[in-house]
Amino acid sequence: MINRAEYITDPEWERFLDFSGNLETPCIVINPHRVKKNYIRLRDLFPYAVFYYAVKANPEKAIVSLLAELGSNFDIASRPELDMVLDLGISPDRISYGNTIKKAADVAWFYERGVRIFATDSREDLKHIAQNAPGSRIYVRILVENSTTADWPLSRKFGCHPDMAYDLLIMARDLGLSPYGISFHVGSQQRDICQWDDAIAKTKYLFSSLEEDEDIKLTMINMGGGFPSSYTQPTNDLSEYAAEIYRYLSDDFGDSFPHIVFEPGRSLVGNCGILVSEVVLVSRKNNTALNRWVYLDTGRFNGLIETLDESIKYPIVTSKDCPGGKEAEVILAGPTCDSMDILYEDYKYRLPVDLKIGDRIYFLSTGAYTASYASVGFNGFPPIKTYVMDS
Ligand SMILES: *Cc1c(COP(=O)(O)O)cnc(C)c1O
Repeated sequence: MINRAEYITDPEWERFLDFSGNLETPCIVINPHRVKKNYIRLRDLFPYAVFYYAVKANPEKAIVSLLAELGSNFDIASRPELDMVLDLGISPDRISYGNTIKKAADVAWFYERGVRIFATDSREDLKHIAQNAPGSRIYVRILVENSTTADWPLSRKFGCHPDMAYDLLIMARDLGLSPYGISFHVGSQQRDICQWDDAIAKTKYLFSSLEEDEDIKLTMINMGGGFPSSYTQPTNDLSEYAAEIYRYLSDDFGDSFPHIVFEPGRSLVGNCGILVSEVVLVSRKNNTALNRWVYLDTGRFNGLIETLDESIKYPIVTSKDCPGGKEAEVILAGPTCDSMDILYEDYKYRLPVDLKIGDRIYFLSTGAYTASYASVGFNGFPPIKTYVMDS
């Protein structure tokens, strides 16, 4: 959880204000130094693991290049994402195709460019892979329940029941592919660490039964993402995640772990970005209304889509904040002519009472799932721009 007072007394905050002061709003400012710090921390906490950055979290080239330099691999979901990463000089043996929803032609595209690791969760997709990416390594994504404890759940749409995963891995072998492992994603911003326990137990069951029944020896577990970034809701420290996950793996696999892969997105880049916006209007809906509406020059269609259902609650700082300053509840909304473009209405942020048109509002921890999620021009507003500070 971010402590606002601590955050804005950090020397980095001054540097950020200097950098962003003259930028036109709205925009997102990325601090690459933090990306580096996050990567090194993950690597230190999970020394036995290999990392595939989930590029969708923030495909900014400076971030991808920096992570490549630090030794990260990449989890890619589409042809344009692949081409962008290859254009940066990253070799295809550092890439896995983690999207289970793809066309046969997409599989061929990846294979032609040298990618040899593919995720799947269905028979039809597996057939496409066998036909268009012969001999490749296959891992099967299993369904895990995560809808109540993850702030941005990824359940239902991806993965299959472990019984089906079992069948798919046999089918992979029979189609001449190489059965490699199991993957899962416990839900993004997963605040319940026990979710990894259940998923690892299911994985262990598949490893054992496939070896015993079919002599198929799986060697890899891809645990996806799910590690938290810092928003207003409390989370355990990443070191707690590391300690618990190590314990779950040891319980199930003893001291000979399979290859362990993580695909961090949010936890690597979330707290590296600050979205800078400006107050367009402050108003009330009747003469005695208690709550002010604060309208900003950015909203759900321009970087803040994860406010959908008020799922992600970003820490907010304003240019009017001062120690002991008077604050009151507001409803925060974006600038477009769509009534869905309300950021927070149930959850009431308290902002300074003297907040005025032209003041700046800073959304902290907006480095993940923001810029690349913006509409191309709803109501004519161009997609939000990203700027990268010097590291
Ligand atoms: C989005 C995604 C990730 C990243 O998840 P985070 O919770 O942002 O770390 C990892 N793996 C896959 C397959 C994904 O779709």
